[in-house]
Amino acid sequence: MDGRKLNVMKEYSNSEIKVKWDPKLCQHSGVCIKTLPKVYDLNKRPWINLENANSDEIKSQIGKCPSGALSFDDLN
Ligand code: SF4
Repeated sequence: MDGRKLNVMKEYSNSEIKVKWDPKLCQHSGVCIKTLPKVYDLNKRPWINLENANSDEIKSQIGKCPSGALSFDDLN
């Protein structure tokens, strides 16, 4: 398994944004997986693959995370 077991903040970047996922806050509601399954896939490692969507799609999805576990920083 990955950082989800270790409760360590995970970070994933493309050329425009850095996405952060905090396992301590995640409620495992699955909203991210349902909203953007091409990016969030628990069967893959890493489970977040930013290259499968554009940054606007990812930012919009992060806004729907109910717990605040997902957040992002603009890199540019
Ligand atoms: S939407 Fe947020 S709270 Fe729900 S599973 Fe994804 S990261 Fe966790």
